[in-house]
Amino acid sequence: VFPGSVDATGQRATLGVLGGGQLGRMFVHAAQRLGYFTAVLEPDAQSPAGLVSHHHIQTGYDDPAGLAQLAQLCQAITTEFENVPAQALQTLAQTRPVAPGAAVVAIAQNRIEEKAHFAACADLSGVTCAPYAVIETPAQLQAVQNDRADLLPGILKTARMGYDGKGQVRVKTAAELAAAWAELGSVACVLEKMLPLTAECSVLVARGWDGQVVSFAPQRNVHVDGILAVTHAYEGNMPPALADKACEAAVSIAHHLGYVGVLCVEFFVVEDGSAHGGLVVNEMAPRPHNSGHYTIDACDASQFDLQVHAMAGLPLPQPRQHSPAIMLNLLGDVWFDASGQLREPDWQSVLSLPGTHLHLYGKSEARVGRKMGHLTITGPDVASVKTVARRAASLLS
Ligand code: ADP
Ligand code: MG
Repeated sequence: VFPGSVDATGQRATLGVLGGGQLGRMFVHAAQRLGYFTAVLEPDAQSPAGLVSHHHIQTGYDDPAGLAQLAQLCQAITTEFENVPAQALQTLAQTRPVAPGAAVVAIAQNRIEEKAHFAACADLSGVTCAPYAVIETPAQLQAVQNDRADLLPGILKTARMGYDGKGQVRVKTAAELAAAWAELGSVACVLEKMLPLTAECSVLVARGWDGQVVSFAPQRNVHVDGILAVTHAYEGNMPPALADKACEAAVSIAHHLGYVGVLCVEFFVVEDGSAHGGLVVNEMAPRPHNSGHYTIDACDASQFDLQVHAMAGLPLPQPRQHSPAIMLNLLGDVWFDASGQLREPDWQSVLSLPGTHLHLYGKSEARVGRKMGHLTITGPDVASVKTVARRAASLLS
């Protein structure tokens, strides 16, 4: 699908995305920069991506008429939201190239299948996931309580629909485990051993229809209350041997899945001397990822550019990072002062700092914990980026 092309009926080359959140918005921006028209399928009338797209199909993700319209308008389709029904991607794939495909999205949507996939390619990737057990039935709960004391203290996570630390309960004892499973609605879960993390990192890879892969260097991520808070993206952000290992693992996971598009693989760095060789794979997101937003301002091709290239069958350039960067997530919390009053953040001061790039997602209402935007800081060297990031963070606290 070449950008800017017009077919015999006058229809413009159009790329489609299922989901209207901020990831869709940044995808739309990247596609439009190349001359594509865009179509967003999203039920919310005021969604970040719908507001900036040429076409906004305002239906549910599984609405047959909406999906038919999306397929009719677009030459290739992607998703920005991993809990979009895999069936919707399956339906679209009958008539259009869809990247990533329904099968890999279905794996990433379910922690049980995701972990089974990581285990299946552990020999190739060189990394395993944290020790875990599946709990789908009362009998399995009982068996884990009886035989898997090695998994405590642990984290019970719902198999489906968890994100930003939601759908998780930390448990110390077998009794707490039973209570937590009930609290989560006795749905399918995994119990994961709590690991002593020294750091977390993620790797973004892009894979084309022909199996070509390019990747970004791993970024180090700091989570607060289960939500990404800060991403450190510069040389020396983690030990080079671990960075190489994470990169190779992410690439082999993408190959093993036959993945097409941008994939983010998240890792734990665990205390040395453990059985895991320092690196444990946590989860994957079948789409561009919050931890890769710095690539817009700090690299010569962003994760969204690569998503466009991959789905449209354009060449995949190996991205080059030209500036060290730190990304600060801007949650709705920033819009409230200490006494809980709504306020406008001090953009005047933040934007007067050198190398600050503000991205706001166009959400009309700030809520605590809601991702409203992010601030990427770039600079000539790591020390100055860190200094500006500290100042920006204190202005925004
Ligand atoms: P989500 O889908 O909400 O991102 P994660 O599985 O990534 O769920 O968990 C969110 C955060 O909780 C992780 O980034 C990490 O900080 C912490 N966490 C999750 N699993 C473990 C574990 N097994 N050991 C230690 N910390 C964990
Ligand atoms: Mg996570």
